[in-house]
Amino acid sequence: MKKTSYQILFMLFAAYFLQFPMAFSQSTAAVAEDEDAFFIRKIYDKGLTESRCYGWLTALCTQIGGRLAGSPEATKAEAWAKQTLEAAGFQARFQDCQVPHWVRGAKEVVRGVNSKILGKQPLRALALGGSVATIPSGLTAEVIEVKSLDEVDALGEKVKGKIVFYNRPMDKTPINTFFAYGKAGDQRRNGASRAAKYGALGVVVRALTTEIDDRPHTGSMYYDDKYPKIPAVAIATLDAENLSKALKTEGTVKLFMKTNCQNLPDMPGRNVIAEIRGSEFPNEVILVGGHLDSWDVAQGAHDDGAGSVQAMEVLNLLTISGYKPKRTIRCVLFANEENGLRGGLKYAEEALKTQEKHIAAIESDAGGFTPRGFSFEGDSSNFKTVFKKVTPFQNLLEPYGLTFSVGGSGADITPLKPQKTLLIGLRPDSQRYFDFHHTTADRIEYVNKRELELGAAAMASLVFLLDKYGL
Ligand SMILES: [Zn+2]
Repeated sequence: MKKTSYQILFMLFAAYFLQFPMAFSQSTAAVAEDEDAFFIRKIYDKGLTESRCYGWLTALCTQIGGRLAGSPEATKAEAWAKQTLEAAGFQARFQDCQVPHWVRGAKEVVRGVNSKILGKQPLRALALGGSVATIPSGLTAEVIEVKSLDEVDALGEKVKGKIVFYNRPMDKTPINTFFAYGKAGDQRRNGASRAAKYGALGVVVRALTTEIDDRPHTGSMYYDDKYPKIPAVAIATLDAENLSKALKTEGTVKLFMKTNCQNLPDMPGRNVIAEIRGSEFPNEVILVGGHLDSWDVAQGAHDDGAGSVQAMEVLNLLTISGYKPKRTIRCVLFANEENGLRGGLKYAEEALKTQEKHIAAIESDAGGFTPRGFSFEGDSSNFKTVFKKVTPFQNLLEPYGLTFSVGGSGADITPLKPQKTLLIGLRPDSQRYFDFHHTTADRIEYVNKRELELGAAAMASLVFLLDKYGL
């Protein structure tokens, strides 16, 4: 049927008006998305041209260096961070807590006794954090090699009077090296007490890295009070391979070990806190953090100077990008993550007392490497709902090589989980982290400036989206 021109005109009008509301809402969303994309680009531009985080990390590493809880360096680092945040234009404060005080003492010695393969050179060793000392004259005992704590249970009394050598390598196959670290870590953390349960005199643990190299990795170990406290050291993977070879070739191998550590009374420690107050919802907090303490033997560049300066940089980047947050954006540099988590526990305890609602917390504590994304976790009562709300942000961050996953966040922010905070971990590339982790090589020269800056820009971008849209 032939239509008149009036009929055609009417149909065009009808089509236009019927479609209009949908077209309008689509274009508003598209405009908002364009605006967000534009602003994130601005954060990255600032982050790659005006960032201060690498300079801050250089100062922290070279002027202060290793800063284990309870040490004079930890106190210096706290003062440095507060002053640096103030100089950058933010009000900063301390939050006091009590931290453990362990000291390594004189250099530990581990060497073979009359072993041709081990020779006279000492093994490259570091006492594990929290370990007791040997008696002053040192300990000499036969070595027994195991691959697991279960194997110690199976051997039972056969480990009595011996040094138990934990030699299960980190699995090389997971793409995320933290999975392998998680699976191998029980040897370091709980190996001593398991061996002491059956009368062992000391433990030597293969360093936690996938590589075969000359770097011993320290890290925390914990005693079970039911059993005697015996000394524990980590040895470089090269020496672990060699010790294993000596046991296979020579049958019986004895080690001499001497550690000089001390567990002293708790000391005062401090979280360092700075923030940009929210303009509309000041009682809603978005936390960004890292831990300021590090192991004594390193500069703590990747672990976790990097995360600390990135958290500081988030405040700086949002400010120099001209962003006025609706919610309070708070940078927290936690005390004592490495050997106690007292800073994180104290923060969560205080947060519970205030009327503030911590909607999200992001921690960077996986090295200052190229950021690959964020992993999310939370309380089971609300996690699914809030994760659904943040999932669309992935589209805006994907151009920067960032993806979202469900998984662990960060040790210091985990105590906030019962407060229904969305917990987020920055996930940098993990391939090189265990080359440096808890070793003397965790130094500023192994941190790449751009990679560090990209991590800070990634965090600032996510904070911007969380703040703009809320949860
Ligand atoms: Zn760390």
